[in-house]
Amino acid sequence: MSSTAEQRLPDGPYDAVWASPGRVNLIGEHTDYNDGYVLPFALPHSTVVGARRLDRPEWTVTSEQAGETVTFGPQDRVAGWASYVAGVVWALREAGHDVPGATLTVTSDVPLGAGLSSSAALECSVMAVLLDLAGIDLPMALRPRLAQRAENEYVGAPTGVMDQSAATLCREGHALFLDCRSLATEQVPFDLAAQGLAMLVVDSGAPHAHVSGEYAARRRGCEEAAKILGVPALRDIDPAGLPAALERLDDKVMRKRVRHVVTEDQRVLDTVAALRAGDARLIGPLMTASHASMRDDYEITVPQVDTVVTAALAAGAHGARMTGGGFGGCVLALVDTDRCDEVEAAVREASAAAGFTPPAAFVVTPAEGTRKVR
Ligand code: ADP
Ligand code: MG
Repeated sequence: MSSTAEQRLPDGPYDAVWASPGRVNLIGEHTDYNDGYVLPFALPHSTVVGARRLDRPEWTVTSEQAGETVTFGPQDRVAGWASYVAGVVWALREAGHDVPGATLTVTSDVPLGAGLSSSAALECSVMAVLLDLAGIDLPMALRPRLAQRAENEYVGAPTGVMDQSAATLCREGHALFLDCRSLATEQVPFDLAAQGLAMLVVDSGAPHAHVSGEYAARRRGCEEAAKILGVPALRDIDPAGLPAALERLDDKVMRKRVRHVVTEDQRVLDTVAALRAGDARLIGPLMTASHASMRDDYEITVPQVDTVVTAALAAGAHGARMTGGGFGGCVLALVDTDRCDEVEAAVREASAAAGFTPPAAFVVTPAEGTRKVR
């Protein structure tokens, strides 16, 4: 099946065309920088890049979403949206891969800046198409770190490795269980349709205010707590040791932050176990508990998002939670397939009643990671 973005790509000729998906994180929020666990799955939405080889070291990239064309050479310092592309060229060359110049055409149906990881979808597609042109068969498992390096060091965005791992490694019908310490991955069967279930993504549309400052503060707090507790990272505290660990922390806020991280890691493990046992309904309560923990202990939700979660649950969702870094973004709701419309209507109604813009919602199924289109 070809995606909307594939159909939108202007006619070539291209020497190669690759696609990479956006993602949502099923559960495991703010666990990545604590060396913990995450469980993303890929969206049917993707970013498609068509490439034509050039015989000189120069890259010309056109994006339908940006509405412009940018040309750069190997020494240029590119800013703006094209830095995600130039960053990948830079990271590949830094790693010793001699990628050829190219004309790149980009289009996407991943919403930009909505927390669905359009940035990693762009990076991973560009990386795949350039490696293909170069005839380099770089194992997929090695690509996320390189794409992350492009985003961290070239673009200058301090993100973890989850987004690029999801874009690259996710499999259709599966969620990707990722250990952020070892980078070990496992494919966990996640076929909702077979169980009469659907995952609804609701974009709260809440503006992301103060995100970077709040993110930095949470991250610092976790590092301080780990130091006080004498562990390399909060991942090393297990639920059995949590009460004793909390007793050793004087700061009330710090205790709440630690409790979120430790219980959230356990919820990821419990979610993986439930999916492996073949009963996806069991993950509903884990999703809802994750949301409560983000709201009350990690304090990263906002009223728009809480309204969506509460309304979805009241309308019969098995579970609902904010996904992503917080302060806005999307909500995931696990619903019976035949109740999608009701839940969506309830969410829109509750949001309007609370004075918020009624959010957009769509149903997603776990899709395939980076793939060659032609
Ligand atoms: P998210 O990854 O959650 O969508 P980010 O802020 O990390 O949000 O990345 C969004 C940015 O990535 C955009 O502002 C733009 O600079 C760049 N980007 C992503 N997809 C495209 C695209 N198809 N065309 C041009 N730029 C893109
Ligand atoms: Mg991003």
